[in-house]
Amino acid sequence: MPAHAASAADLLVWYDRHRRALPWRALPGEQPDPYRVWLSEVMLQQTTVTAVKPYFEKFLRLFPDVTALAAAPEEAVMSAWAGLGYYSRARNLHACAKLVAAAGAFPDTEEGLRKLPGVGAYTAGAIAAIAFDRPAAAVDGNVERVMSRLHAIETPLPAARAPIRLFTQGIVPRDRPGDFAQALMDLGATLCTPKRPACALCPWMAPCRARAEGLQETFPRKVKKEKGILRRGAAFVAIRAGDGAILLRTRPAEGLLGSMAEPPTSAWLPDYDPAKGLLDAPLDARWKRLPGVVKHGFTHFPLELTVFLARVAAETRAPEGMRFTPRDALDAEPLPGAMKKVLAHALAGPVPVPAPTATPVREPDLATMPEPEPPPRRGPIPKPASSRPSDLARIVKKAPKPVRTR
Ligand code: SF4
Repeated sequence: MPAHAASAADLLVWYDRHRRALPWRALPGEQPDPYRVWLSEVMLQQTTVTAVKPYFEKFLRLFPDVTALAAAPEEAVMSAWAGLGYYSRARNLHACAKLVAAAGAFPDTEEGLRKLPGVGAYTAGAIAAIAFDRPAAAVDGNVERVMSRLHAIETPLPAARAPIRLFTQGIVPRDRPGDFAQALMDLGATLCTPKRPACALCPWMAPCRARAEGLQETFPRKVKKEKGILRRGAAFVAIRAGDGAILLRTRPAEGLLGSMAEPPTSAWLPDYDPAKGLLDAPLDARWKRLPGVVKHGFTHFPLELTVFLARVAAETRAPEGMRFTPRDALDAEPLPGAMKKVLAHALAGPVPVPAPTATPVREPDLATMPEPEPPPRRGPIPKPASSRPSDLARIVKKAPKPVRTR
């Protein structure tokens, strides 16, 4: 059977039996709430359903509707978002809520939704279809996978996006377009998975060309990613004596890791020489270069950071534009994965003593100062500092994967 025989009706019959129960999803016969649909779609950008569920419920509790969200102070929104990553999305969410609250309602067309901050083509299509039953296509990574397999599209991504969108738009039914969008999401999340798709259970098994060829897992075709040129840099972790607070700063809003937090770093350059790293140190201290490097892969280039560590005196003031963040507040800082690795690397070993100051009046013996009290834990008693896992290990472990399983 040719691929064009795949029908929305077959998919909807399957969906009516196997639809997932999700907290933001209206039950059959219920009117979808645009606020819930929008909130969930923004949260689900780059994040998994499992990671989003508790945040979605927390937001509904704190901000039950778009007016409440618009009226909330930005710090309250950022704090509720903390841990979900990609903080620019939280800022866009808040800005969008203000616009919608001022307008009195969400726009109900794809074009109108596209004008809102943080709403791209996929999100606009999803909201238009799910919340307003518009015949819009919502094409995300899951849908790309399903459609590329259904039609055995040989063109690799991202060039295949245009034909995939056309194929998807061409099959959106006039009747129940919102359910169709959600059915396609469910198919990609539950049956047409990246590995070992469950074709025997698929409502589109018969017309699926990739399945007929036995090549399901090879679609979508992808262009081999250029790894990019290795960049190097230095990162500086300063720990304040007394409370163990760590020197952080916020990266510029524009550009890579925009508005996210980091221990101060040098420029990241292909020819950066870590031996001269101290020239970029944010403050005078007895910096110790740690062995090894922290490696992190960005989409377009790999990065290696040499980490310098120092313990500074309790009265040290943060340089302009920087701040000392207490250890127990690190969870609330928007630290990207690369910077969590830097902190984990720095905090895993013994911390050096600070440089002597000119006025050591009543200065405690920092060399023998105890480590700051760790936050209460329910786990086993930590091992000695030289071998214990870092305080940051917890944060690193629970960072959500940027993969969408929906
Ligand atoms: S038959 Fe298999 S590969 Fe084709 S759409 Fe269904 S689950 Fe995906």
